[in-house]
Amino acid sequence: MSLTLTVPPRLEADRRAGLPVAIIGAGPVGLAAAAHLIERGLPVVVFEAGDTAGAAVRAWGHTRLFSPWRYVVDAAARRLLEAEGWTAPDAEGLPTGDELVDGYLEPLARTAALASVIRYGTRVEAVARQGMDRTRSVGRAATPFVLRLRTAEQTTDATARAVIDTSGTTSSPRSLLSSGLAHDDLGDRVTTALPDVRGRDRDRFAGRRVLVVGAGHSAANTLIALAALAEEDPADACVVGGAQRRHRTPGRRRRRRPRRARTPRHGGPRPGGRWPCRADRLVRDRRRAAVRRRRARQRPPRG
Ligand SMILES: Cc1cc2nc3c(=O)[nH]c(=O)nc-3n(C[C@H](O)[C@H](O)[C@H](O)COP(=O)(O)OP(=O)(O)OC[C@H]3O[C@@H](n4cnc5c(N)ncnc54)[C@H](O)[C@@H]3O)c2cc1C
Repeated sequence: MSLTLTVPPRLEADRRAGLPVAIIGAGPVGLAAAAHLIERGLPVVVFEAGDTAGAAVRAWGHTRLFSPWRYVVDAAARRLLEAEGWTAPDAEGLPTGDELVDGYLEPLARTAALASVIRYGTRVEAVARQGMDRTRSVGRAATPFVLRLRTAEQTTDATARAVIDTSGTTSSPRSLLSSGLAHDDLGDRVTTALPDVRGRDRDRFAGRRVLVVGAGHSAANTLIALAALAEEDPADACVVGGAQRRHRTPGRRRRRRPRRARTPRHGGPRPGGRWPCRADRLVRDRRRAAVRRRRARQRPPRG
């Protein structure tokens, strides 16, 4: 059976006209995107889940960035700020997260151009095409977006001509468990962001046994802070353990180097003629094999 459409689908190319570009998140990237759009004269609205700009950066505000200011300040954002008398920090200085928010993100969010377009305390919960489910494709590109917004008071919808998702990764961390499964049952025993071990979150870690999962910079910084916490106040001593996550890209298995036998400095039988450890036994076996080879070479040929 074939189905023939007798009424052509309605294509309304101008339904997006006049709508703003919606930006999700007022972090460094969202605010820079907003600054560029404003420079081009496009209407913008920024939805930020937190109460201030750079809310996610604040969560690790005690940590120093690895990028100096000159890589952190966006060009369009700088133009907006300098028009209002802002002085850029030392280009080579390395700010902490808090300094980034205090010295750049908050002043930027307060500029006349941006202050009126940021909606704080507004979490974007979903994005769709207005009046369409996922199965409809005709006219999709010309259809406005609809964003489901949740605030403390209510849930509403807003429309936009385009959506730029700069919500970052802080609120969607990778799961601790294998297969990417959530760890809801572990409750608040797991912290995913970089905790302020020696400051704000001190009580949570002091005197506790802590497992740090990961082998990157964040894990290393956290381990250093935990060790310092234990040293600062012996009563606060915490026991630290480390575990490395395995990162393996499918199809790219890392080849393991064959493990070498450690040669003990004084390899040889211990008192009593015993070979107590595996490394010693390997040395013994190698020596015995070498002796056998030497004897075989010295033996006169038969016949
Ligand atoms: C310790 C540490 C050090 C770092 N150092 C550097 C560095 O030196 N250089 C560097 O380039 N990068 C660094 N990074 C990475 C850094 O986080 C990013 O470069 C930067 O913050 C990315 O900015 P963003 O705007 O994309 O995201 P974010 O900073 O994560 O901002 C996202 C914003 O979106 C908001 N948001 C999230 N979900 C929603 C939602 N559903 N609705 C509304 N709002 C939402 C959040 O509240 C937040 O304000 C570092 C990260 C860490 C953790």
